[in-house]
Amino acid sequence: MTDVVLDEGCELCEAARFTHWYYEDQVCWVADCEACSTPMVVWKSHGTEPETGEVDWMLARLTEAGMHRFGEGIGSVDRTMRQVPDHFHAHLRDPHWLARRWTEPPSKYSGVGGARQLVK
Ligand SMILES: [Zn+2]
Ligand SMILES: [Zn+2]
Repeated sequence: MTDVVLDEGCELCEAARFTHWYYEDQVCWVADCEACSTPMVVWKSHGTEPETGEVDWMLARLTEAGMHRFGEGIGSVDRTMRQVPDHFHAHLRDPHWLARRWTEPPSKYSGVGGARQLVK
């Protein structure tokens, strides 16, 4: 496994726990993205090139979170890194993610795993 490298001032390295967290281990964490509210997997190390096995692992954990949230076979992995191009992460976007940003309150952190709770 790759050594974990952190970058001061990188928001993904900071890994702030504001939204719902679906999963966490030594390789990655999966939580609702603060910007778009869809599940997002983030590599625990700062950089763009995890090993192939780690990428597969992370995308599988992301897909699991998406299944939990939206149901089986809904949504697709989006590996485009728009906001933080230098730290590996990926989103799981369902077809309605864009509209939902404005109609659904964001989730809140309530421990890793468990039921997803919304900010009231
Ligand atoms: Zn996002
Ligand atoms: Zn980072």
